[in-house]
Amino acid sequence: MMMKIALILSLLGQLVAATAAWSQFPWWSLQAPAACYGSPVVVRQAQAQAEGETTGPVDGPAPTRPGRVVYLTFDDGPNDVWTPQVLDILGQYRVRATFMVTGGNAVRHPELLRRMLEEGHGVGNHSYSHRYQDYQSTVAFARDLELAEEAILLATGRMTHIYRPPGGPLRLTPPCRQVLEAHGYRVVGWNVSGADSCTYAVSAAQISANVLQGVRRLPAGQPATVLLHDGTQPSSREPAPGSAGAVYAHNRQQVVEALPSIIEGLQRSGCRFEVLPEPVLAGDAAAPTTLQQPVQSPPAPAAQGPRAIATTR
Ligand SMILES: [Zn+2]
Repeated sequence: MMMKIALILSLLGQLVAATAAWSQFPWWSLQAPAACYGSPVVVRQAQAQAEGETTGPVDGPAPTRPGRVVYLTFDDGPNDVWTPQVLDILGQYRVRATFMVTGGNAVRHPELLRRMLEEGHGVGNHSYSHRYQDYQSTVAFARDLELAEEAILLATGRMTHIYRPPGGPLRLTPPCRQVLEAHGYRVVGWNVSGADSCTYAVSAAQISANVLQGVRRLPAGQPATVLLHDGTQPSSREPAPGSAGAVYAHNRQQVVEALPSIIEGLQRSGCRFEVLPEPVLAGDAAAPTTLQQPVQSPPAPAAQGPRAIATTR
């Protein structure tokens, strides 16, 4: 009898321990695959919404004002065709965002990184080469991370400690996470996706609907981190005409077309746009050398159309 009681108590103990471990798992760092170019998975609208349930940084500062905070993020750039258009629209609406740039594209277009910062946006590290195979080698991963750091530093004179893994945080191995921690990075996923990186043509209306519905599905008050793409060249490879990669590349036009309705829709629902805050590092008094501060967007003007606001720039 005593042995049976001991066995039951032991099983109960294991169950409690397993439950505790389950509750401590960093669910916020998860996301569905197919974040970026090269993924074999096609993200349709329902999947984009599902992503919203499993990812996001959500460890930013607690909101101090009513209304949902929205972090618009743009991956894989900068690109000399689409990024200036995205920046123009953000400027017309006086909305700030965070650009997750690749080091390779930072080297190609350092002037666009400087423009991002001058206009109050944030910049995050999105690797140098955007190679998924680098996750299999800690040495390769660390080297790629540092190459991107150097490229961003060279372009802007400042460091960032925000990192978005190519393909999303789910692809990170524990050793790669340790590399990022050692470098002081905050890993940022997303909890809303425009599903604009699908390997088929996604309409602007669909991208806008994905974002607006995705944000609406989040619990009240939870910050929204929205995944969109301004870049088309995550690697040095040029997609072959007619290929899935070429279709993906052309999707940036739809992102540009969708952006005004995304901003207007979110503004109508009381959201405010902010730059992803840098982590506060040990010994970092006020983080003066980081690429972005938690800047709040100024109140939207009465006339919210881009043409009306363009005259104020
Ligand atoms: Zn990417």
